[in-house]
Amino acid sequence: MSWDIIGQERAVAVLRRAVAGEGKLSHAYLFAGPERVGRATTARRFAQALNCNAEGEHPCGECRSCRLIAEDKHPDVELFGVGGICEESDHRDHSADGSREIRICQVRRLERVVSRTPFEARYRVIIVDPAESLTREAANAFLKTLEEPPPQVILLLIAAREEALPATVRSRCRRLAFSGVPREAIEAALHERWNAEPEQAARLARLAQGRLGWAVAALEDEKLLIDRERIVDDIESALAGGLTERFAYAASLGARFSRDPQAVRATLELWRDWWRDLLLTAAGQEELVADTERLDTLRLQAAQYGVGGAVQALTAIAAGRRHLEEHASPTLALEAMLLELPVVASGS
Ligand SMILES: [Zn+2]
Ligand SMILES: [Zn+2]
Repeated sequence: MSWDIIGQERAVAVLRRAVAGEGKLSHAYLFAGPERVGRATTARRFAQALNCNAEGEHPCGECRSCRLIAEDKHPDVELFGVGGICEESDHRDHSADGSREIRICQVRRLERVVSRTPFEARYRVIIVDPAESLTREAANAFLKTLEEPPPQVILLLIAAREEALPATVRSRCRRLAFSGVPREAIEAALHERWNAEPEQAARLARLAQGRLGWAVAALEDEKLLIDRERIVDDIESALAGGLTERFAYAASLGARFSRDPQAVRATLELWRDWWRDLLLTAAGQEELVADTERLDTLRLQAAQYGVGGAVQALTAIAAGRRHLEEHASPTLALEAMLLELPVVASGS
């Protein structure tokens, strides 16, 4: 099966060479890039390649080691993330307590795990995903392992917002950049590997904005597309409304951020996608629009806001997304963003 990763040729080439002994094998890597573009799949593939027991090209995908890793059941490949177990007598299992961070007690348990020799693998592989969920104390504790990793241990940190990681952590990892998968590659993969109808493959590839993993998930579960449509409807009405509607929208999104930050980040990505489409429409580049089913609305709004309005909105959204991660109050950051969005004068 070999690596079989779509669209991340550069990162995969570095890892392949390291496995083949043609390049240096680092003890820690940072897989930096947006979600659902293949970071976690590549991490598993790397773990397989490091521990594959077949003759010839690694990973074979069929030996016991490759199969166990593919099923996330290999005793020496650990998925280290939010929730999960620790060894404090009064905690034990953080998957049950609604934890949204990787805690220091989990890192302490990990230290003990990595200090033992692997059960059966050549390399013990720890996949930290998402690495930006490490609390500050957890990240500091983790530094010890990063600085002096036991032999035969490879640490893979996966992060979409690498700037949220302490510089001390980042500097101890070999950074590999992951980028969005090209639209044509997503379309071809959906059609050829996942048997999507050509029209559906084309539509999902446009909407995916580089996220192959999202496109595949949306193909298998239509709820994702329905959710997406609902959010875009909300965006349209928040824009059409006055200040009251915008403040109400900011408040509801802000409240949601503390419960489910990932959902709010995804919503803001849709805001950006919407205005990018609007900018393309206003600039006469309709053939590049992602959400072609909404072209009628996009044309109407493009006529109202123009290229200048779209650029202003994209700037406000970029700032809003940044402030959301920095600010104490998510609602304030979102209100500021919505106030910066252009307004169409009523009656004009
Ligand atoms: Zn194998
Ligand atoms: Zn604990």
